[in-house]
Amino acid sequence: SKFSDSGLNQSVLRAVQEGGYEEMTPIQSQAIPNILEGKDLVGLAQTGTGKTAAFSLPIIQKLLKDEGKRNPKEARSLILAPTRELAVQIAENIKGYTKYLHLRMALVYGGASPKSQVKAMLSGADILVATPGRLLDLMNQKHINLQSVEFLVLDEADRMLDMGFIRDIRKIIDRLPKDRQTVLFSATMPKSVEGLAASILKDPVRIQV
Ligand code: AMP
Repeated sequence: SKFSDSGLNQSVLRAVQEGGYEEMTPIQSQAIPNILEGKDLVGLAQTGTGKTAAFSLPIIQKLLKDEGKRNPKEARSLILAPTRELAVQIAENIKGYTKYLHLRMALVYGGASPKSQVKAMLSGADILVATPGRLLDLMNQKHINLQSVEFLVLDEADRMLDMGFIRDIRKIIDRLPKDRQTVLFSATMPKSVEGLAASILKDPVRIQV
């Protein structure tokens, strides 16, 4: 189906269409309307299916709707990814989708100096893309506060668990507001991922491609 039937508004559609997207991928046509409706969602999807746009486009639209809620220092959406490479790739996609919008993004990952990452957070971010270990460090050092997060995404959840991030993820999520929308994507659905999903999502819609 076409993006123009997705329920996304003009400012989001324009950036997507200029990016050369016309048809939604199957994961996008299933995920976007549900996320726009405010539902929690579990998506079984591999890389290459268009999952990044499937979760970021509806969240971008929701952030635009309530711009008044913006707190200059606190992120309203958090996207957790297993690796620096994936976090950077997600952030690059979102940069493209938001090029006509006034949304600010910050990236937090390990293996690089935290200084500039903290600075970017302090100057304000609507969307924070992070790997769990470094994010938890910066939260423990009181550089990052996540009490304004309304949207949480776990991308490649199976890989994050394989990498041993389960404790960090649970500690991070314990400090998020309970009243939030949560989306989890994973390429596989082992018991460990099902267990995490069951404890952090509310009555999720399940989709797979
Ligand atoms: P992902 O699965 O999110 O890593 O996306 C894989 C690639 O497909 C990325 O290069 C996206 O920019 C691209 N892509 C995502 N959605 C679409 C779409 N609806 N039409 C064309 N390309 C897309």
